[in-house]
Amino acid sequence: MRDRSLVSVCLPLPVPTAFTYGVPEGLRDGLVPGRRVRVPFGARTMDGWCVGFPEPADLPDEPPPKNVPKKGPRKGTAPKKTREMKVIEAVLDDGPLLGPAMLDLSHWIAETYACAWGEALSACVPAGVRSGASAATVLHAKLAIPEDEAREAVAKFAEKQTKRSRMLAILMEHPEGLAVRDLVRAAHCSDSPAKTLARHGLITIEDRPVDSDPFAGALPEPPADVTLSDAQEIALTALYEAVNARRHAGFLLHGVTSSGKTEVYLRTIRAVVESGRQAIVLVPEISLTPQTVARFRGWFERVAVLHSGLTDAERRRQWHRIRAGNADVVIGPRSAVFAPVPALGLIVLDEEHEGSFKQQSAPRYHARDVAIERARRAGAVVMLGTATPSLETWWKTHKGQLRLLRLPSRVGTGKLPKVEIIDMVREGLETKRRDLLSRRLVEVIKRTLRRKQQAILFLNRRGFSTSVYCSRCGGTLKCSRCSVSVTFHRSHGTVLCHPCGVERPMPRQCPDCSTPGLARLGAGTERLEDAVRACFPGVRFARMDSDSMHDRDSYERVLGAFRRGEVDLLLGTQMIAKGLHFPRVTAVGVVSADASLLVPDFRAAERTFQLVAQVAGRAGRSDDPGVVVVQTIQPTHPALLHAAKHDFEAFAAHESAERARFHWPPHSRLVRVVVSAKVDIAARNRAKEVADVLRGCLPPDCHDVLGPARCPIERIRSNFRWHVVLRAADEPVQRAAILRLRRLGARVRGADLTIDVDPADLT
Ligand code: ADP
Ligand code: ZN
Repeated sequence: MRDRSLVSVCLPLPVPTAFTYGVPEGLRDGLVPGRRVRVPFGARTMDGWCVGFPEPADLPDEPPPKNVPKKGPRKGTAPKKTREMKVIEAVLDDGPLLGPAMLDLSHWIAETYACAWGEALSACVPAGVRSGASAATVLHAKLAIPEDEAREAVAKFAEKQTKRSRMLAILMEHPEGLAVRDLVRAAHCSDSPAKTLARHGLITIEDRPVDSDPFAGALPEPPADVTLSDAQEIALTALYEAVNARRHAGFLLHGVTSSGKTEVYLRTIRAVVESGRQAIVLVPEISLTPQTVARFRGWFERVAVLHSGLTDAERRRQWHRIRAGNADVVIGPRSAVFAPVPALGLIVLDEEHEGSFKQQSAPRYHARDVAIERARRAGAVVMLGTATPSLETWWKTHKGQLRLLRLPSRVGTGKLPKVEIIDMVREGLETKRRDLLSRRLVEVIKRTLRRKQQAILFLNRRGFSTSVYCSRCGGTLKCSRCSVSVTFHRSHGTVLCHPCGVERPMPRQCPDCSTPGLARLGAGTERLEDAVRACFPGVRFARMDSDSMHDRDSYERVLGAFRRGEVDLLLGTQMIAKGLHFPRVTAVGVVSADASLLVPDFRAAERTFQLVAQVAGRAGRSDDPGVVVVQTIQPTHPALLHAAKHDFEAFAAHESAERARFHWPPHSRLVRVVVSAKVDIAARNRAKEVADVLRGCLPPDCHDVLGPARCPIERIRSNFRWHVVLRAADEPVQRAAILRLRRLGARVRGADLTIDVDPADLT
């Protein structure tokens, strides 16, 4: 037994080491790995994590620096190593926030994603838990009269005061009451009818500790009574067996949209819950909707929803509830992979191909790989589900690391829509015009609207036009800090840089040659709006992109209106491409498949296939499968041809061969190092050093190192960007490179160095 007079502490800093501190006699009790401690660090005090107890003799970690200037050590003034021990100031929290399993997992994350252990540890526990955010309060409304009186009042108000009537009716369905903000949302009105009702004594409104559940307004949707398809039965047999064996197993559930995947998740989770364990369900942020949550609520009583809209206090409450074992199912976006369930039985990752599972700041982990690793360590089952698997996941089924379960057709008699590809080059030659919408697409939508059905138009570009240029000198208008073409946003009369968000008035003349009147090229959703007005006069439409949607409420409002049929045509960016199914939609247009096909990234084809497959999933109903029209200037591109046939496996075979030819994942493992600096040459020189180190430290025939090269986005916020991309033959080579880079990382000066393992893109 170690004597605990010394402790190893990890701090949330980008340094690869733990620091050794002394522990005063009085603080030794209750100090265990996973517990937080407050320590002096230079001139500051910081909260860190106890990760172990070194023997006084071996002192493996560094002593903390004595006095670090705010900007970090300068050359030549690095803190002298000293054996004089600093001591911890306090032991925090009631006990350890992380148990041995999560400590180990966070260590794996640090090693795998080349970040500091302290950073990985902090990612495992939400900030609200660490800061000890205290419970805030919200206004809570509740009926103050008996049910029969309430029913009378609902009827009485139904004529003129419909909002009051609606509110009372909603409160009757919630005997426990409801947060006013949820009541207001559910009743589609402001809070003034609620205040009036309270003044008249029909309801009470009081301050209450926050309801930790932002989806309380959504009524649980009871399980539908379905007869499982043969494919669902087969999948579930395998899943039940794995769950009951209480051993680790990994599955890919590959099923087209509406093939009954969620039904399979729910039943597998039920088996896990019945065995006394818990399940975590990871979904992309955007599909974390009230409908999704309502469906899980219908099946399970104790559901915890982790969501970006939670306050710190709400998050803290949920976290403790989950840790106490009081939630059987946890639903959330990528960070929910760290949910502290006491007996993990299953992790489901829905829409596994989604880019949002990769975190874009340190620690740059991929929730899919963390989920697999956590399940492996816990002896739990992991299930990835999607209609369009990532090539990486698909490859794992070939290598036997994941078992493939197929749901090949839509449930019931539902058919997939017909996909038509329109050659926009030919269209232009034939019409002698450059319309945004082809004749065929206009015809398909007109027919749909005549039949009182709905249509969706998809264009993955925000704004009005994608570039602004001078028709005399040909120069395009770029952001002065980012080297990126700016987008014209007509609604504000401004040009906007998408990477940095800087907005300025549209110039009246070319900044280079002073020719007045700049031209615009390429179409965004704003211009699509014009085309829709011109082609379909009188159509009721709504636009959905990150410029028009300011919060979750506006998103829900538009989708709600569309679902109720108050809107005939929905147009927007990728926001509308995912997750939702609208049975009355029978026409979908992809205005430009080239927007994703022409991106300079090895995943461009994969993304385009996913996009077309996902939008096709929005359309169709049992009696009318609908039509999807895809416009492109590359009508014979394999991604489009296979997508038109709804044939993922053929696409994957083709794409996998292409990737193998060029050594891209899944046939290699990437590490990307981005070096950025205010001075171009400094960034380039540092990048060259990185490339040299990588070339020197790895055996020559099992990797190749690309670069240094300028990043496709050469400059962001006035920083020049260079990158080096390592393609390692396999994981051990990748790990060796990461190890080397981590040591290098600590020493780079004059430039920022970002190590991105398994990067989601190379821009
Ligand atoms: P996915 O997750 O693949 O999109 P869902 O599980 O959400 O599919 O199923 C789509 C719809 O079909 C849901 O309303 C679900 O209740 C229903 N459903 C699922 N399985 C069946 C089945 N075997 N028979 C009839 N309806 C089903
Ligand atoms: Zn910019």
